[in-house]
Amino acid sequence: MAEFSVIDQYFSRSALHGDELGVGDDSALLTPPHGQQLVICTDTLIAGRHFPLSTSAHAIGWKSVAVNLSDIAAMGAKPHSILLALSLPKVDHDWLSEFSRGLYQCCDQFGVHLIGGDTTQSPHLTITVTALGYVDRQQAVCRSGAQVGDYVVVSGQVGDAAYGLAHLGSALQQRLDYPTPRCELGQRLKGLASSMIDVSDGLAQDLGHILKASHVGAQLDLEQLPLDPALEALENTAKWQFALAGGDDYELCFTISPEHFEQLQPHSLDTKITKIGQITAQQQLTYHYQGQDYPLQLHGYQHFA
Ligand code: ADP
Ligand code: MG
Repeated sequence: MAEFSVIDQYFSRSALHGDELGVGDDSALLTPPHGQQLVICTDTLIAGRHFPLSTSAHAIGWKSVAVNLSDIAAMGAKPHSILLALSLPKVDHDWLSEFSRGLYQCCDQFGVHLIGGDTTQSPHLTITVTALGYVDRQQAVCRSGAQVGDYVVVSGQVGDAAYGLAHLGSALQQRLDYPTPRCELGQRLKGLASSMIDVSDGLAQDLGHILKASHVGAQLDLEQLPLDPALEALENTAKWQFALAGGDDYELCFTISPEHFEQLQPHSLDTKITKIGQITAQQQLTYHYQGQDYPLQLHGYQHFA
């Protein structure tokens, strides 16, 4: 395969400055800002598993970056750059051109540089992006800091992408194909949120990771969940299944003390945020509906299940 011409043609735009080095040498070179810690994460998207085979190349490019920037945002960090490991069944120029356009569009929107990667041939289209970011030393927001009495808050709307996947062609397919990483909100929450996670596997499961790491529980108020009108129109069981167990939201779920919540000034944020519950001492996730306890059975998604 013409590996080098693919790299040259589609992935070698470089915008690093000074003594930093991007695509083209054996490794990239970065100079971390003084007093900051490097934040790194990686996520793989496999065709047919993490996105429908019908997904446009442009959306795949966007999404492969966005899901990683979401993980960087969930630490309260500022994204800086990405690496792209691309396994392609064949060199399809139309596909590559659209894929790289989507990828760079997401990079540009969030001020991120593609600084390297690897290009290989494989029977399955697989895209692994590694994202790097920076955060002030000791300021990263981890999963383990939730305190009893903190509010549980979520950005945007939940369940849209799962609904979009179940109803391909509906307006909410856009939310499945083009998730918005909450980069600005994540950085604003640094020093304010006590814990944070990005919602990729369903709100209930991802909040569960915070609860486990923090040794606490939570009570969620089902009426407060921020839902799209398309979900609101569904009967309760179906709407909560999408909202709490649907994947691919890429919203931020965080816990925050009531005092810090007051300081947040929601109107100054670029993303809607909604208080959906509170952290409890009893180590389980419970639900409230119309002032009553409400037992809920959800069907979650698990790899290797
Ligand atoms: P090596 O053989 O030394 O591992 P490669 O030939 O794989 O290097 O890659 C050459 C250069 O192109 C490297 O700088 C690498 O980071 C970059 N690169 C390879 N594939 C991609 C890609 N898909 N996107 C961005 N950069 C890439
Ligand atoms: Mg190589």
